[in-house]
Amino acid sequence: MSIASYMTPALTAYVLVLVALLGACMGSFLDCLAWRLVHGGNIFSGRSKCDACDHVLGIRDLIPIASWVSTKGHCRYCGAHISCRHPLIELLCAGIFVVVMVHYQYSLEAIEMIAFACILIVLSLTDLDSWTIPNGCIVTAIVIRFAYVIANGVICGMDVFQVVCSTLFDGLIVAIPLLVLVLFADKVLKKESMGGGDLKLFFVAGLYFGWQECLLLIILACVFGIVLALCSQPRNATDVSHQAVQSLDDSEGTENDHSASDQSATGLQRMIPFGPSIALACFATMLCGQTFIAWYIGLF
Ligand SMILES: [Zn+2]
Repeated sequence: MSIASYMTPALTAYVLVLVALLGACMGSFLDCLAWRLVHGGNIFSGRSKCDACDHVLGIRDLIPIASWVSTKGHCRYCGAHISCRHPLIELLCAGIFVVVMVHYQYSLEAIEMIAFACILIVLSLTDLDSWTIPNGCIVTAIVIRFAYVIANGVICGMDVFQVVCSTLFDGLIVAIPLLVLVLFADKVLKKESMGGGDLKLFFVAGLYFGWQECLLLIILACVFGIVLALCSQPRNATDVSHQAVQSLDDSEGTENDHSASDQSATGLQRMIPFGPSIALACFATMLCGQTFIAWYIGLF
């Protein structure tokens, strides 16, 4: 019997409010973490400061969503405009925490998926800002996945070695054909068709979702990539390339991600990194992957 069976509606609502609050706080932390990964600085220590006036932020400046709303999106000390991106990330993270918790029903898998969702948020932000997917995000995601697989294997009395090998196989069976395809496309197109960071992220997706669900995930990632590229502002391609190279120079231990969903448009290109699209596809697969596979198998 699952934990959810013992929950009354009132207790469920109470827990979900707490989960949402935790999600909003994590969103604030992940936003800061992604910013420091891109711009440098100690990741886990150091006080948050206003970007404009360098004033150290106090407790009342760091309350997720509420601080931004109470100051109408301005710094309390210098009046500088604060991007709505910050409360939106906090809101998004709160929503993701609640949706994943409801979907996975207060299980160990829910904690695993929430941790993976946090990593997806961070790497999406760093990819959007600097066209890089930090290797630290990839390694952390791999460690969390295998920690879950081993813990779940022990709890359920499964052959741990076998489930670890099976999980690794799922990652490789997704990543290796993609790698071959990308190398072939690079040769034909004579340019990089997909960044190394994206490939590593697909490997991670294989570990988490298995190769069957990853077929859906790859299609979704491409669809999201096209949609995001169409919705993005046209940019000068040389500016983006310069920014990508600059961020590679600045960020040791990160994988530069030159691949992009792009469309030529009178000298300008609509360019956006592929990482956020893969992350979106991961979220969709997290919530609907098994349902889709069951529906697809039911067709035959
Ligand atoms: Zn300020």
